[in-house]
Amino acid sequence: MSDCLFCRIVRGEIPSRKAYEDDLVYAFHDINPARPVHVLVVPKRHIGSLAEVGEADAPVLGRMLEVASRIATEQGSPDGFRVIINTGRIGQQEVGHLHAHIVGGPEPVGPMLKRI
Ligand code: AMP
Ligand code: ZN
Repeated sequence: MSDCLFCRIVRGEIPSRKAYEDDLVYAFHDINPARPVHVLVVPKRHIGSLAEVGEADAPVLGRMLEVASRIATEQGSPDGFRVIINTGRIGQQEVGHLHAHIVGGPEPVGPMLKRI
């Protein structure tokens, strides 16, 4: 059994504010939200990052994106949202279990990245 933080959240060993759940994915509110709506969607099965996925992961990756719009609308961002998947050192991923940030709210979320 993995002692990874998000695996433990999926198993209910660490409390979270659930936003959505199905057979493949679990979604919960970010503990330190960057926007009024900030939900993390994770695969229930441990995948370290987007850099580690293979063809067999296509269904769960599709599900993560497919539910994003529904979650954003339900949680208070019906006019659009942004999905962010930080990956690895360059992507400054902090938690080593694949997760998509769904961010939004009543106002635009801001510029994508500072341009070089
Ligand atoms: P990342 O930098 O993409 O790896 O994002 C990790 C995210 O996980 C951050 O936005 C954290 O605020 C969030 N986070 C860390 N621990 C928890 C937790 N126990 N419950 C909910 N969100 C968390
Ligand atoms: Zn994990």
